[in-house]
Amino acid sequence: MANPNSPTREFEFYACPACRRPLNRRGDMLACPRCARANPIREGIPEFLSEELSTSTDPELRRMTTIDRMARIYETKLWYPIVLKLYGGWRSPSLAGLIRAVAFPVQSSHGRVLDVACGPGTYGRRIASPAREVFGIDVSRGMLRQGMAYAAREGIANLHFARARAEALPFEDGVFDAALCCGSLHLFTDTAAALREIARVMKPAAVLSVFTFTAGRGGILKYRRVREWSRRKHGLHVFELPELEQCLTDSGFEDFQPEVAGSVLTFSARRREG
Ligand SMILES: [Zn+2]
Repeated sequence: MANPNSPTREFEFYACPACRRPLNRRGDMLACPRCARANPIREGIPEFLSEELSTSTDPELRRMTTIDRMARIYETKLWYPIVLKLYGGWRSPSLAGLIRAVAFPVQSSHGRVLDVACGPGTYGRRIASPAREVFGIDVSRGMLRQGMAYAAREGIANLHFARARAEALPFEDGVFDAALCCGSLHLFTDTAAALREIARVMKPAAVLSVFTFTAGRGGILKYRRVREWSRRKHGLHVFELPELEQCLTDSGFEDFQPEVAGSVLTFSARRREG
């Protein structure tokens, strides 16, 4: 079945992250007619973030420099399973299990799906379908390029990548039927600001599906001192469940449905109506 919401032209769906107006395509630029902001398209990827990670004054962006260089191994057994077991404990699900858990709440959602901090499309590639068009955003060029390469190799058409921050999404209000945020909610400096921005671009009652870590009973994150050290040293914000539920409520979400395995947390929540 063809998706009736499909954009007719490439890049047409993006909006200015500053003023949220539709953009004009001018060669390899997406230009905002209102605030004169021009966003380059590099190797097929629109860039709504001009800063370089390694030289950024923002510690949240600078911390991404390492992961940017690891794009090739990120999805392999050299990275994902090791991080899951180390942080989450031996009860942590496999990557395949996590993908199933994250996909489940959005299975009945058709239309457009936002994949926040998408990496190489680890989750978005598995969720894109003729009925679901996925828009992945990430700050890491390395990850986005790797995602483009995977999607081309796997023949996935309904998937788009853009370089942008979760806190300044290049989309108009209320355009997404669902959203994913996998492996990154604990990395945002201001989680509430990121969640508010995600809520802004979602339709009322749209579902958000997340994988992150929590202060659970597995892996090194079960130790309070490790959590405190990770926060100081690496800006890792590992939530207790009541704290996270409050943050979601304050950011415009409801119907929090958590599942914990060790210290791995998957949850869904709905964008509040009205
Ligand atoms: Zn603008």
